[in-house]
Amino acid sequence: MSRGAFDFAGTSIPAGRREQAELHASRLPTGSELAIPVEVLHGSRPGPTIWLSGALHGDEIVGVEIIRQVLEEIDVGSLAGTVIAVPVVNVFGFVAESRYLPDRRDLNRSFPGSKTGSLASQIARLFLDEVVQRCDFGLDFHAGSDDRTNLPQIRGDMEDEETRRLAIAFGGPLAVHSKTIRGSLREAARKLGKRNLLFEGGEPRRFSRRAVDAGVEGTLRVLETLRMSTAEDTAPPSGTRLSWATRWVRAPQGGIFRMDVELGEDVQKGQVLGSISGPSGRNRIRVKASAAGLVMGHAVSPIAHRGDGLVHLALDPSPPGP
Ligand SMILES: [Zn+2]
Repeated sequence: MSRGAFDFAGTSIPAGRREQAELHASRLPTGSELAIPVEVLHGSRPGPTIWLSGALHGDEIVGVEIIRQVLEEIDVGSLAGTVIAVPVVNVFGFVAESRYLPDRRDLNRSFPGSKTGSLASQIARLFLDEVVQRCDFGLDFHAGSDDRTNLPQIRGDMEDEETRRLAIAFGGPLAVHSKTIRGSLREAARKLGKRNLLFEGGEPRRFSRRAVDAGVEGTLRVLETLRMSTAEDTAPPSGTRLSWATRWVRAPQGGIFRMDVELGEDVQKGQVLGSISGPSGRNRIRVKASAAGLVMGHAVSPIAHRGDGLVHLALDPSPPGP
């Protein structure tokens, strides 16, 4: 018996086919329609339905490239289940290269949203109703915010055994436990009983090669773990380190920060992470690690105000597993 078609936003996708669909976001003030592009891959065999989403923060575009490459790797003819891919959720922020919506609202703080709320609230509701509700599981791709860069990492509720299993299966260098933020997609999805992983890697407005590669390989491994696809050429993971808490090392004074460590490096408590001084080198002080950990992110701009986050540490990470 052949598998039935999958209906999505007015498009009917037969089993074994990939089709483009659209979600109507809004009209621009000029009157032009602005739609959220969606790719639906409806596998020929039954299986889970998952979503892949990028650019909820419009300038965090690394997920756009990850999703493009993942879709190229999936053979929809042998796919078990359905993939709903939304590479650019915040279409307004994406074209403006901005994290926010035009009203400066943060889409990832506007869930679950409502049909009559702000633009951010309405787009959140649309994405939740049309995409998340129809899925069993999801992967949402982000990059460092503001002027920050991140080691490729998975964030999620690691106290949930299945979430932890999928985070480790993703096979990135790091998985960190994080509580959900109020108004985030993760929180809204969890309340609907939809497990999800959040990927972080690279910096805004860039395709970091390291982050893209980790995101593509990891997503293909998760599809394999969910028995949706078999990707022969995914590299074996080098082993994921699991951390249960994170901490920012902040600038003890304003100045120019020169960093002595790099992403992915292990540091000891009290280790010098860099120095901060005035522009001509006066008032130089050393910035030390307040705890042992793994460098999971850092500021990109050397110009720091007192209290700015300089280096983000994943505390006490496990040895590479599983
Ligand atoms: Zn983000």
